[in-house]
Amino acid sequence: MSLPTMQTLAGGRWIGGDDWIDVFDPADVREPYLRVPALTAERVTAIYADAEAGFAVWRATSAITRSAILAKASALLRIRNAEIADAIVRENGKSEVEARVEAEKAADFFDYYAGAGRDGYGSLIHDVRPDTRTGYQREPLGVVLAVTPWNDPLITPARKLAPALAAGNAVVLKPASETPTSALYLARALHDAGVPAGVVNVVTGRTAEISDALLDDPRIAAVSFTGGNEVGEALRVRLAARGVRFQSELGGKNASVVLAGANLPKTVTAVVAAAFGQAGQRCTATSRLLVDRAVHDEFLPLLLAEIAKLRLGPLVSRARQRDVVAHIDLAVKQGAVVALGGTEVPGPGCHVEPTVLTGVTVDMDVWREEVFGPVLAVRVVDGLDEAITAVNDTRYGLAAAVFTDSLAAAHRFLAEVDCGQIAVNTTTSGWDVHQPFGGFRHSGSPFKEQGPEAMRFYTKVKTFAIHFG
Ligand code: NAD
Repeated sequence: MSLPTMQTLAGGRWIGGDDWIDVFDPADVREPYLRVPALTAERVTAIYADAEAGFAVWRATSAITRSAILAKASALLRIRNAEIADAIVRENGKSEVEARVEAEKAADFFDYYAGAGRDGYGSLIHDVRPDTRTGYQREPLGVVLAVTPWNDPLITPARKLAPALAAGNAVVLKPASETPTSALYLARALHDAGVPAGVVNVVTGRTAEISDALLDDPRIAAVSFTGGNEVGEALRVRLAARGVRFQSELGGKNASVVLAGANLPKTVTAVVAAAFGQAGQRCTATSRLLVDRAVHDEFLPLLLAEIAKLRLGPLVSRARQRDVVAHIDLAVKQGAVVALGGTEVPGPGCHVEPTVLTGVTVDMDVWREEVFGPVLAVRVVDGLDEAITAVNDTRYGLAAAVFTDSLAAAHRFLAEVDCGQIAVNTTTSGWDVHQPFGGFRHSGSPFKEQGPEAMRFYTKVKTFAIHFG
């Protein structure tokens, strides 16, 4: 039976492939439902030539015109929200509500950077010579490669493309092989909005076959990567050798802390959302929970009762499902206690039960390694000092939350926890498009995404002196 296909955008044209890759629905992975082109390495190299040509046109386009095109792309994403959300649900498995929010937020990114792109982000500086005007301006970098994972298949590309394009760069986007279709909907919105040929290109294909052509092209000015630590570190080393600017958003082992005095029902709601939203497949998901001994026995039953009501969507693939179950099994072998869930849900989909592990100790893998699934590891702590030390005792530094009624505790948590995102009485996830986002230490590079900070990565500073005497 021949499957429907989606073409990809390269050099302003929609193209197929000599070969195709299958896309699966995580709710039923028995058969693929769609195919996208498996581009060859030669085609990838040709795309960089297209992108270089596109950059020449785009950088010469006024920032006002570029912004108008991005605003139009945003409008198209909003008009097409339901259709795009269906595509997200189909390839990723998240809920319809989550997918609609994702599509809405992707549109927000283009609105925000349509506005921000009008700002040159430069400055005038006084000169010791009275007849000389000095200052600096920001200029685009050139061709930017964006490499994105499967867990937010539309918004992660949008988070990179909106500022990159607003700053005047051309983009080659490589979405995750599991979830290429959302990226193609994004490319369609940008193409239909009037982005010139070659400015936005999407590389679909088998990663191993195209990796060298994708990463080693001399025309790449910068790479923005979101994904796992192993791949991110390999890319960092490889690109550093050529002096290519590199941004990464990597894994997390995010903790939420519940202190005595916290509003327990509200805390339960926030922790459940942070740990089990998108079946735990968020880089900012809470996966470690530290509960003050003074409230532990009251809090835990409330939490378990709420989690027991959840009906989670599938994980993205069989491989991810097996991996998450293996994490749970290893934790149990190492002495953790399954308080809830603990295994996969049999059937054609890739579901795993919402799982809570207690009796967890700091040396267990489940306390130290990212699981990226619906698994929450719980430990008891005695007070704020112990909690802060435990939160920081990880190589990651993405997000952390504290639930408390103490202003002093909140301030200390903010000051002393070494994470890029700190939440007080709210979830570790859900940062808005205008709020700078990114992790410390092994969670990512110093370049931030989102908000005005993102423009730093996608531009370079040129300083000038104009002598008019
Ligand atoms: P991954 O690292 O396996 O893949 C990410 C992307 O890199 C995919 O597009 C993949 O095809 C590509 N890739 C892999 N090897 C490559 C190579 N050799 N050459 C070129 N491209 C290559 O990650 P994943 O499994 O897709 O995503 C899950 C990970 O992403 C988790 O670790 C999660 O924490 C992380 N993540 C981080 C953030 C954040 O903002 N910090 C957000 C979402 C996900």
